[in-house]
Amino acid sequence: MILSGCNRSASEAPSSLTDPELLREIGRIRAIDHHAHPVSTAAHDRDFDALPVDDMEPQSDPVYLRPGALGVADAWRALWAYPYHDPTPEHQRELSGDRERVLHEKGDQYPAWVLDQMGVEVMLANRVTMGPGIAPPRFLWVPYADALLFPLDNSKLAAETPDRKAFFADEDIMLRRYLKAASLDAAPRNLGDYLARVVTPTLEGHKRGGAVAEKFEAAYLRSLAFDRTERGAAERVYAQYAGKPGHLGSPPAADYKILQDYLFWYIAAECGRLGMAVHLHTMSGAGGYFDVGGANPLLLEPVLNAPELRKTKFVMVHGGWPFMREITPLLNKPNAYLDFSNQGLVLPPATLARSLREWLEWVPEKVMFGTDAYPYSAEMGWEETGWIGARRGREALAIALTAMMREDGISRARALELARMVLRENARKLYGLP
Ligand SMILES: [Zn+2]
Repeated sequence: MILSGCNRSASEAPSSLTDPELLREIGRIRAIDHHAHPVSTAAHDRDFDALPVDDMEPQSDPVYLRPGALGVADAWRALWAYPYHDPTPEHQRELSGDRERVLHEKGDQYPAWVLDQMGVEVMLANRVTMGPGIAPPRFLWVPYADALLFPLDNSKLAAETPDRKAFFADEDIMLRRYLKAASLDAAPRNLGDYLARVVTPTLEGHKRGGAVAEKFEAAYLRSLAFDRTERGAAERVYAQYAGKPGHLGSPPAADYKILQDYLFWYIAAECGRLGMAVHLHTMSGAGGYFDVGGANPLLLEPVLNAPELRKTKFVMVHGGWPFMREITPLLNKPNAYLDFSNQGLVLPPATLARSLREWLEWVPEKVMFGTDAYPYSAEMGWEETGWIGARRGREALAIALTAMMREDGISRARALELARMVLRENARKLYGLP
């Protein structure tokens, strides 16, 4: 990529698509990043994800996540005063020294410094645990609940694909952590005890620890079709297989689904009782074995239509890509929300703007900004992906709102109000933040 000699990072959005004053105003709004995986200042931090995606088999990566992708050198210039325009490997070595220097200089203030570079005031940190430098008020905790769905022997599910083998190994470790926190060596022998001694105390412990939501990466592990299930049927499956050795403890997939579905509804209801939202990964990926059809947000309709779950707020994280049109009418459910995290990383702003515009023309109070900052590699750490996601998200918003001013006839004041809602006010209301 060759840019003109100026130091400033050029915008990726064609200037004909954005009203320059609106883009400037949007750049000044301090955002709430609804979904991201910041890395703590602890050595060898691995708690930034319950299912780290570096254990997967190779896939055909999307263009914007490849080494040297568009925007990476801009992020380096903005974050580390990188003096070159090309992200070459030789220059990258100098860069890691710059990153270490800032990290050393800022100490535990380093993660908050990264947020300042992104124009983000508060980041929802989707992490197994919080950690040094990752603390309120700048970072709010969103822990994981998937492991609670899989209390039986998972070897049959793990055998389905090589990626699931790695994912279920991680979930088994997570469940052992939750059992240990409940002073148990193994899951109890009946469902009632499991709910009372493990599931509810885990969720209550998260809440006490400051959690504002529970996250499900369930789409990595199974379909999002969580059906309404009789408790008696779930109890029978649990009692038949819990704690049994070898294949005696490993239920057929259809039986296990009954138990998982029951547990999901139970956890969702508990989150409503405790005042925590439920976050669901709704996007194709990660990995080349990912069940894309199983992540269609329309599969969540029974959950979103359940009168007994209306006290729980559900956020469809990543905006459902590629099912962005399907997700739009789901915003009519009073307890359904979405964020567009990750889409700013993998799509150019003009492409993301098309979905954003449709959502903002429908139910704009339910649409939230997010980056999905994530440590993918040495050249694309959570700092770079956060910075790129924040910039492209703002540019996409500017393109959508400019088109709505020019073609739908909304006023400049309304466009700015919508920008503030998406970038912070909608999340502030959802979580009752000051
Ligand atoms: Zn994420």
